[in-house]
Amino acid sequence: MRHLDLGEADRLLWLLTPQRGVLRATARGARKPGSKLGGHIDLLCYVKLSIREGRDLHGVSQADTVDAFRGMRTDIGRVSRGLYMAELAQQVSVEDAPAPAVFRLLVNGLGWMATTESPDALIRWYVLRLLTITGFMPEFGSCAECGNVLEPGDHVFSAERGGLVCPACRSQGSDVLHPASLGTIKVLRHLARSDYPAVAALSVGEEERRQIERILRAHASTVLDRGVRSSAFLDEIRDWPEAGPVPGGLHRGS
Ligand SMILES: [Zn+2]
Repeated sequence: MRHLDLGEADRLLWLLTPQRGVLRATARGARKPGSKLGGHIDLLCYVKLSIREGRDLHGVSQADTVDAFRGMRTDIGRVSRGLYMAELAQQVSVEDAPAPAVFRLLVNGLGWMATTESPDALIRWYVLRLLTITGFMPEFGSCAECGNVLEPGDHVFSAERGGLVCPACRSQGSDVLHPASLGTIKVLRHLARSDYPAVAALSVGEEERRQIERILRAHASTVLDRGVRSSAFLDEIRDWPEAGPVPGGLHRGS
């Protein structure tokens, strides 16, 4: 998920594992030319590792690539979205606690990121699914404040209150409210109950897309209690007309 150069030739890795959540481990000699480990421990790689347990830090003794998601790695737009997905997955996981559902979602998500025609639709779905499997699914059916079922119509979303709020509850509190049109709410509900390949072709209008991104980002940030570092990077490249190749491959550091 992240790495940091250590000493002359070593690398410290932050790994997401299904059995143990986030693990930190050193890969000795990984930066030496011709290192057996070096070729398999790049960012955003799905790998099979042998790990020696240490008291403070674990050590990687063997590594084999399962999937490097090659279709993603030559396109900076897809890579930045992949990094965003990995960062969110890391932030909802803790050290030494199993995270099989988050791990599976990330591996599937990166696989789709390598091939999908609509990377942004994938991100919207992924964020919502990640929030759902970690128990932070926003409320889209009834008012997050009073619990009344919402009439079909335009509403507002409060990340602080965890969902849409009805007109009567809207004016209570001083939280930031994001507009959510009827169309936006329909798309959010659809995304929340569907699997990715089924929503890839869902057409979303420009205004809905903006509203959904604001809502999901606000909700994810509130849940994670801090901004996600690569969000700014994602904003920066969002409006590039065509994503080009990544200069020098995927070595942006951590
Ligand atoms: Zn209400």
